[in-house]
Amino acid sequence: MEKYLYKPLSGSYNLIMAYPAIEEFALASLGYLWLYKIASTTEGINAVRSSTDNIPSVKNAGSIAFSMSFDFDFIGVFETLEKMDIPLYANERDENDPLVFAGGPVITTNPRPYEAFFDFMLIGDGEESFKKILDILKNHSKRKALELIKDLEGVYIAGSPAKKATVGLQEVIYTPILSDKGYFKNTFIIEIARGCMNRCAFCTASYTNLPFRNYEYEKIIEAIEQGLKYTNKIALLGAQISAHPRFNDIMKYLENKMDEGINIELGISSLRTDSVSPDMVRTLVKGGQKHSTIAIEAASERLRRFINKNLKEEQILNAVKIAKENGLKGLKIYSMIGIPTETPADIDEFLRLGKLIKDENKGFNIEFSFSTFVPKPHTPLQWSKREDTKSLENKQKYLEKEFRKLGIASKFSSAKWDYWQSVLSRGGSELAPFLAEVYKRGGKIGAYKSALKDLDIKVKDEFELDELLPWDIICMEPGKERLISEYNRLLRRI
Ligand code: SF4
Repeated sequence: MEKYLYKPLSGSYNLIMAYPAIEEFALASLGYLWLYKIASTTEGINAVRSSTDNIPSVKNAGSIAFSMSFDFDFIGVFETLEKMDIPLYANERDENDPLVFAGGPVITTNPRPYEAFFDFMLIGDGEESFKKILDILKNHSKRKALELIKDLEGVYIAGSPAKKATVGLQEVIYTPILSDKGYFKNTFIIEIARGCMNRCAFCTASYTNLPFRNYEYEKIIEAIEQGLKYTNKIALLGAQISAHPRFNDIMKYLENKMDEGINIELGISSLRTDSVSPDMVRTLVKGGQKHSTIAIEAASERLRRFINKNLKEEQILNAVKIAKENGLKGLKIYSMIGIPTETPADIDEFLRLGKLIKDENKGFNIEFSFSTFVPKPHTPLQWSKREDTKSLENKQKYLEKEFRKLGIASKFSSAKWDYWQSVLSRGGSELAPFLAEVYKRGGKIGAYKSALKDLDIKVKDEFELDELLPWDIICMEPGKERLISEYNRLLRRI
């Protein structure tokens, strides 16, 4: 069952809002749903939702907008276009085909590998540019619309320099459609802040969303009240929600509501290790949360210093202790392996830290969860070498074995898939035929390897500081010069 928390309008311009994965995930994507709300409340627009398991047949679609959140989403994009009988490449489409465009974190981070498939792309915050685009689309022919759209801030068209769009946060963004089919069933998600001021050296969530911004406290409370009219499941979203200047007040407000007897199931995806407080944990526990996650990124203080994750071991131990003493049943400790300059001693630090945490917190569930370092554009580590897959897998096996001996659960991402993620993240326009070929060959991991080999495409796994990078065409703060000086500063810290 779906519940619309607003009144959709209809119109004569057909816009397909396509999510390149199954509906369950589409209904959990706040960014996608919010833009759908904008489209479906714009006069003259008939907005139609699409996901890979539910592709509508729409005659005379004027345009198709994709939201890409994950590197492998291109598979879902191609699947959707193919099922709609629309050529994959933009230059193979004609006046009768819809305009096809995309936005989302993947596109903002690096649109280059995808540029051949879209007529234009949105870089940065989409809400304002999207409104302007809708206004143009519904009033002009395809050709004229493209001419007008290309000059908007935050719009990238293959090969032309573009600037990221950054908006001031006004109207609070929340889940506009509640559904029991969504991954987070009937959950009213509220964005309370955007970006993160910590600037960990690998982190796109921080670097591509600068500056950190937050919504006004009063507006957040208003949104919570609105959500509670429809559901008792409330989730607060943001890369660094506890940096909201009134985060404690927001939590207190929720706690008071619970104390008044209002049943609230509260969700917060992860806790910031250096700001875990007894009050915060107690409110979460009151709101039904049993487990949570903290991200430490690396076990050795040296490596954490290098990646600008300025977290002391004491703070980690303290966070776990507070979580345990205030009622959580367990914590997932998220980290990475393969960070540049990592040594075997840094890997062994995980075991030492794991043992220490376990010994200090008997009976508390601890799980270490690892991904491998994937260098990302627009971060100070964008030039770094990605470690060889075999070597990463050896480290994973070693950690798994040693953690098992210690009786600590551990989980690992696939180093092979992470490798392909790094290829896509730092690719350029030369990857277009490769992407199309991977799709044609079924999109499984073997398809990536064989397509790359057969097309003879060379992948760079390290870049020089002074070379032109594919994504330099996108202008965003802090800019390349400052990323270089930050990278050099970090190197001096190890
Ligand atoms: S604290 Fe988290 S969100 Fe913020 S920069 Fe570091 S990794 Fe990114």
